[in-house]
Amino acid sequence: MDNINDLKGEDLNEEEIEEGASRIEEYFDDDTSSEEKVSEELKLLYLLTDIDKKLADIEDEKGDLPDRIDILSENIKRHEDRITENKNTLEIINSEIRKIKKESKSYEEKANKLDEEKYNVRNNKEYDMKTKQIDEYLEVLEKNEKSLKEKDSLKETLEAETINLEKNLEEFNSERNTCIEELNTLNEEFKEEEKEHNEKRNEILKNIDSEIRSLYERINSSYKGEAIAIVRKGNCSGCYNSIPPQRVMEIRMADKIYTCQSCGRILIDETLVD
Ligand SMILES: [Zn+2]
Repeated sequence: MDNINDLKGEDLNEEEIEEGASRIEEYFDDDTSSEEKVSEELKLLYLLTDIDKKLADIEDEKGDLPDRIDILSENIKRHEDRITENKNTLEIINSEIRKIKKESKSYEEKANKLDEEKYNVRNNKEYDMKTKQIDEYLEVLEKNEKSLKEKDSLKETLEAETINLEKNLEEFNSERNTCIEELNTLNEEFKEEEKEHNEKRNEILKNIDSEIRSLYERINSSYKGEAIAIVRKGNCSGCYNSIPPQRVMEIRMADKIYTCQSCGRILIDETLVD
């Protein structure tokens, strides 16, 4: 029992000591400096947002040109593949047609030869045999004729489709070239400005903790240039939702990064940016 009491006594003493220490720490470096560090990073993020807003405006100027170029490129690839496929199939069909025609020609010659021979036969049996053979050849010829008709029709369809595909391909190519030219002009126009912004951006990023940086980049990838929202009169400036008073206080303390529970933007107290 004595031992337990002693232990309890020791625990209490340790808590008291810790409490005292933390009370003291508030007036000294540690806590204050970590607070300042996040405040500094929030201020840097705010500067970053300003640059990203300008970069987003430039992207807006370029509009949907990059997306259109991508979509057109996909279409062009699909058309080219289809045309190649059709041409390969046509080559196969043409070779089959040649083969059938060649076979038919030889069967026709054979049938004609037998037809002449059948008048010079010595007996009925021989005559019947030749007639039967002729019929067999004619049957093949008929079958070949039918097959040629089918292949010709397929060939016609594929050729017509290929012509259409080639026409569309030409239009897509010309549209893509126009888009690329427009985009190049805009890229050239904004090149210097973008370079300046990106240089400033990288300079700022160097001073931001990597975790906060990736959080910011993630949010900025969906809210182009609007990853930061300011807490004004208890509301998020990004989505206008109200923030609980306790959270508003914590955001003002700025000892860590908070994001809006409604829109996900990083929140900064207005006093930090005024
Ligand atoms: Zn919000």
